Amino acid sequence: MAALSHIRGLEDGTSEIRGVVLSSSANEKIVDGLRRGIGALFAGDREEHFVATPVISRRTSERAGYPTTFPQLLGAVHGSQDGDEPTATDLVLTSAACHHLYPLLAGKVLGAPTCLSVEATCYRGEKTYETGRLRSFRMYEVVRFGQAGAVEQWRDRALRSADQWLSGLGLSTRVVQASDPFFGRTGDFLARTQREQQLKWEITAELTEDLSQAIASANYHKEYFGEAFEITNTDGSETHSACLAFGLDRITLALRHAHGVDTSDWPLAVRANLAL
Ligand code: AMP
Ligand code: ZN
Repeated sequence: MAALSHIRGLEDGTSEIRGVVLSSSANEKIVDGLRRGIGALFAGDREEHFVATPVISRRTSERAGYPTTFPQLLGAVHGSQDGDEPTATDLVLTSAACHHLYPLLAGKVLGAPTCLSVEATCYRGEKTYETGRLRSFRMYEVVRFGQAGAVEQWRDRALRSADQWLSGLGLSTRVVQASDPFFGRTGDFLARTQREQQLKWEITAELTEDLSQAIASANYHKEYFGEAFEITNTDGSETHSACLAFGLDRITLALRHAHGVDTSDWPLAVRANLAL
């Protein structure tokens, strides 16, 4: 068999198409290790895990507010069922994994706090293509629904345990406050309010010597999705929600930057942790 060692996908971030990468089987072993690690981290919380498609209903994306707040990032599916000019279909590309979960709970009254997780391949029409900024990437999210205070506490606890786990994998992480999130970049005022309310936090790590990126993000949505999808608590109040999103492809890039391209050279403890 011809040596393919010169062919790299995600490992060195190169690809024919900017922001789109192929993942080798060695890389997928790391991703599998990450999936198991996240699963173990939230085993006590979550009731069900889902694997979502790269497409989602346009209606759900609209209900989540994505096309109005991030029109520049949204991708849509166009098609032609009868061979005419392609037109927009009822599907768009998944922008965030958690969007797949809200319709499941739409119109429901939650008798108890609920925790679900979901992985999806997401699309975002990014403008730049520095290392780790992909247009198509895997996102694994853990989402918690319930009463305001409890959800915010969960977000804080989840962020801390994710940071500990990622540091335990040998990454030099930083937890930083961010803005932008799920309800948009609609001006400085909103971004400032979000920062003041500390709704979004990111765990960053180096992907190259001079580039750090968010490898995970924790968002407290308050009642935003509860209201949009009519999810209520038993006392009639709108359900609050929070999500912790792991960027699986970015974490593998951070690990390769920290420990080297070849996983057989990685520290034993990290290999054992990821079952490599
Ligand atoms: P966000 O919804 O923007 O907070 O994204 C959740 C997580 O997905 C981030 O913490 C990143 O790890 C990952 N992510 C976001 N955008 C990209 C991208 N363009 N390429 C690769 N990973 C991304
Ligand atoms: Zn989310």
